Amino acid sequence: MPLRSPLYSQRSLILTLVALLGAGFLATSLLSYYASRASIRDNIVNTELPLTSDTVYSEIQKDLVRPILISSMMSRDTFMRDWVVNGERDAEQMTRYLNEVMTHYGAYTAFFVSDTSLTYYHAKGVLKQVKATEPRDAWYFRVRDMKDPYEINVDPDLANKDNLTVFINYKVFDYNNRFIGAAGVGLTVDAVIKLIDKYQQHYQRSVYFVDTFGRLVLTGAEGGPQGARAGQPLSELDSMKNLVSQLPKPHSGSYEYSGQGQGHFLNVRFIPELNWYLFVDKLEDGDLSDIRRSLYLNLLICLVVTLTVIALLNRVIKRYQSKIHAQATLDSLTELPNRRGFDLLAAQAMHEAQREPKPLTALLLDLDHFKALNDNYGHLAGDQVLIGFARDLESCLRHSDIVCRWGGEEFIVLLKDTDGETGLMIAEKIRRHVEQQRYAYNGSDLQLTVSIGLTTLQPDDSLHALLSRADHAMYRAKQSGRNRTCVEMPHSSYEPA
Ligand code: GH3
Ligand code: MG
Ligand code: MG
Repeated sequence: MPLRSPLYSQRSLILTLVALLGAGFLATSLLSYYASRASIRDNIVNTELPLTSDTVYSEIQKDLVRPILISSMMSRDTFMRDWVVNGERDAEQMTRYLNEVMTHYGAYTAFFVSDTSLTYYHAKGVLKQVKATEPRDAWYFRVRDMKDPYEINVDPDLANKDNLTVFINYKVFDYNNRFIGAAGVGLTVDAVIKLIDKYQQHYQRSVYFVDTFGRLVLTGAEGGPQGARAGQPLSELDSMKNLVSQLPKPHSGSYEYSGQGQGHFLNVRFIPELNWYLFVDKLEDGDLSDIRRSLYLNLLICLVVTLTVIALLNRVIKRYQSKIHAQATLDSLTELPNRRGFDLLAAQAMHEAQREPKPLTALLLDLDHFKALNDNYGHLAGDQVLIGFARDLESCLRHSDIVCRWGGEEFIVLLKDTDGETGLMIAEKIRRHVEQQRYAYNGSDLQLTVSIGLTTLQPDDSLHALLSRADHAMYRAKQSGRNRTCVEMPHSSYEPA
């Protein structure tokens, strides 16, 4: 099985962790986002919008249904019917009656149009004669011919400076069920518009009325969707295209549609008294932008947490790696580089020396009769002596020199930028230093000598060739009596005097 490099497994560990943390955080953030979105949407569609629509409806009823009742009462009023049947003799009586209705019930206007004389009476007097040819009077002839008992009509009021007015036009019959005219009250649209505006502002949604043909009939002061005015069909509005395609004609219910890049929730409710539909429309964004913002914040926090975890993990891994690396290249007893550490350092030192070129001297040191020392004083004593020897060896060298425990009681030294002659001086210095040193152990002073093999680096030398020569020299040092330095060069070998 091929071994994976540590870098590869470190990278795949970090990638796996990023994927796990990222996917976990993303999943929980998105889940909570969609859950809150669903509950907000559900709340808007099933509770908020119908509630607003209920409230607006009850306000409208208060403001519009009352005038319908008043108009209905007027149409059944015996005074009114008697007065018409008796030939409309005293106009004053009628205007007084209308004025009474208007002031008492707080209507904007009150009127009666007689079918016999075509006279338009209102609260302040006789206004005019209605004519079939006059477009402004078309409403009367429409009411006269219609089947329903009454209609609601939005028109300018001639009697009140042409203010836009909601008229309730009720048919009036005599006691033989013969049509004798139209009566009713009017209230200014201003009041309804103000009401709509109040609701729009208070609930942050659009409120408007649409007739059965899908035309706007009443909106707030700033108009309906896209500022559309009364009379405009919803199908003409760009923002309503999506809605009109699923709802060609108004129909009560809850709808969702998108218009001009924004989602809308819509509640439509039929108002039978008006024969209009009440539209309460809410932009999706208002409420959802809050939770969208918290989603982004969540994701940002997740990103920061993920990056921090990865950065911390990376640091820990790096620290452990360098620790493991150090442990793998150091000898645990003497804390000098071991063979593996030496190989790395030596390769670099040889490369530098051969490239420059600069001299380099290698020393191979082997402690004399070390086995006897172990045998006599114990293995622990031997260990203490090895540690002491390592420190002494270092104390005789420069910081830049390379020293390593080659194994057992053998050490190697590479003296950088040092020729054979200087190397020999240093080797002898070490040897003498060790010879004179006393290593204290359990009350005994232990003595030691060392045999050293010396050689210098040649231009084409390999590490193996260099160390073999040093080994030969060391062997000769042992052979010739120990506690000495022997030199081995490619073509000469000698033992210094
Ligand atoms: P020579 O002068 O020929 O080198 O004799 P020597 O006894 O030093 O040589 P030999 O190779 O026969 O013995 C080396 C001894 O070093 C044997 C071994 O037990 C001991 N030794 C090797 N490593 C350690 C160590 O880590 N601690 C201790 N205490 N002894 C060790
Ligand atoms: Mg040995
Ligand atoms: Mg030895």
